[in-house]
Amino acid sequence: MSIESTNPATGAVVDTFEETSTDELEDRLERASDTFEEWRETPVERRQRLLSNAAEILRENADEYAELMAREMGKPIGQARDEVAKCAWVCDYYAEHAAAFLADETLAGEPDAKTVVAYQPLGPILAIMPWNFPFWQVFRFAAPNLAAGNVGLLKHASNVPGCASAIQDVFEQAGFPEGAFTTLLIGSDEIDAVIADDRVRGVTLTGSDGAGRAVAETAGSELKQSVLELGGSDPFVVLEDAPMDEAVETAVQARLLNSGQSCIAAKRFIVVDDVYDEFVDRFADELDEQVVGDPMDEDTDVGPQAREDLLDELHGQVEETLEAGGECRLGGEPMDRDGAFYPPTVLTDVPDDAPADREELFGPVASVFRVPDEEAAVEKANDTRFGLGASVWTADLERGERVARRFESGLAFVNELVKSDPRLPFGGVKDSGYGRELARDGIREFVNAKTIWVQ
Ligand code: NDP
Repeated sequence: MSIESTNPATGAVVDTFEETSTDELEDRLERASDTFEEWRETPVERRQRLLSNAAEILRENADEYAELMAREMGKPIGQARDEVAKCAWVCDYYAEHAAAFLADETLAGEPDAKTVVAYQPLGPILAIMPWNFPFWQVFRFAAPNLAAGNVGLLKHASNVPGCASAIQDVFEQAGFPEGAFTTLLIGSDEIDAVIADDRVRGVTLTGSDGAGRAVAETAGSELKQSVLELGGSDPFVVLEDAPMDEAVETAVQARLLNSGQSCIAAKRFIVVDDVYDEFVDRFADELDEQVVGDPMDEDTDVGPQAREDLLDELHGQVEETLEAGGECRLGGEPMDRDGAFYPPTVLTDVPDDAPADREELFGPVASVFRVPDEEAAVEKANDTRFGLGASVWTADLERGERVARRFESGLAFVNELVKSDPRLPFGGVKDSGYGRELARDGIREFVNAKTIWVQ
């Protein structure tokens, strides 16, 4: 069986890859398990050095990897280069901090005993990853886990097999032992058996909540540790004292990053009555100015959606919202050109329970809600089954922080775009998943925090 990757800007086949056969899958699992025995004993300083090498390789080949992302999933080329740079950053970050994060912690226990917590690796960890940040999401998992002494098995989304292979190459070139990081080109129907395999000790998934539930169910029945980073419908709250120039400019970026296909994109813009008209006018005008086009073109702001079926699903959500009584202020129809292009779109007057209110819209579609005041804004922001990120815009920083603390989300920003940063924990609550990636919390997810008592 072979897997094809297709350029969503043109519909042309980019490349063809052989699926991992059953025998090869068994070999790779065995190799991962064997390599773990050696890797767990490798001093953390050496693991850190190899991560620094990986950062170098990423920087040296940034153009090649960026073009691969642009071709396989349509990411605008400038954003793709930024993504490669961020992957190098997370490698450098753990190359610098892993030893400190993993150092034994002495805790006060019995006066005459030595009592410490040691952070020891678990084994091969399976990462099921999506196509939207095909390098970043993998490195966000791989850098802390390889530093911790685990080994990685990657089941990447089926539309980015080239990225999956290139990432394995990065680690091989960096000098990691064979089996430390292995790509499995398998379908999602083979995942349950891999999770259930005794050699695999944990699983992390970034993707839709449907896929998350399926994986969590299997991991739960196998009693294996899991981390889930699922979707979001992040609120972007604009209060009456918001710095309007920055709020509008950031709102555009926050909705359109990665052509709107980001879990932490702002999706529901919640604006108090006093500034609603000004915000909607300026936001729609700015969105209308953005350049939609070929992802390989340096001037492109918005590329195609990553797959035709994702565009169809997005448009279905827009149509259903309009049928329910929503208004379309901008865009709202797939573009009349080859490729999976959807224009920046603004929906207003979205009724409660319409898809744009209840579901995640994974594309360049912004829904704007009018609310009377701060209290109603917070209530609307939290009235969702998701809880990934949230932001609030106000000139009063104390007020902003107060509102941020009331958001039911894993990440809350005041006067800033919701973003991931290697130095800070990242993850959600509610249907956005559980567990944390990045920072110290991220490296301690798939470790055995072992209590050692020496009397
Ligand atoms: P999926 O959640 O289906 O895919 C993400 C990853 O999970 C892929 O590797 C996929 O493999 C795998 N997968 C899918 N179903 C299962 C399963 N039952 N068991 C194990 N693994 C599974 O996302 P889609 O690509 O279909 O996108 C659909 C929607 O998901 C988007 O519109 C968006 O709302 C959300 N999404 C959220 C992301 C985020 O960053 N939080 C990222 C991507 C999507 P395969 O590709 O082989 O099916």
